[in-house]
Amino acid sequence: MANFKFNKDKILRQVSDNLTKRYEQAVRTVRCPEHGTIPRVTFKGKTGSNINWRIENICCEQLKKQVEVAIQKANR
Ligand SMILES: [Zn+2]
Repeated sequence: MANFKFNKDKILRQVSDNLTKRYEQAVRTVRCPEHGTIPRVTFKGKTGSNINWRIENICCEQLKKQVEVAIQKANR
């Protein structure tokens, strides 16, 4: 039986890339109706088993709520 070496970091990196793309696509459809701002998703690396994200370019509460909804839909 062959020994399969599991490259955890590489797999995690690929998972984060896929998630970043997914979140970017979800967030790209969101735009603040009042200020016309488009939010941006940034992958910030990992801490332990947590993957850290940052959503930038949030101008107001209204946009923040829309982003949250879009991310929730993307997670389904
Ligand atoms: Zn706004």
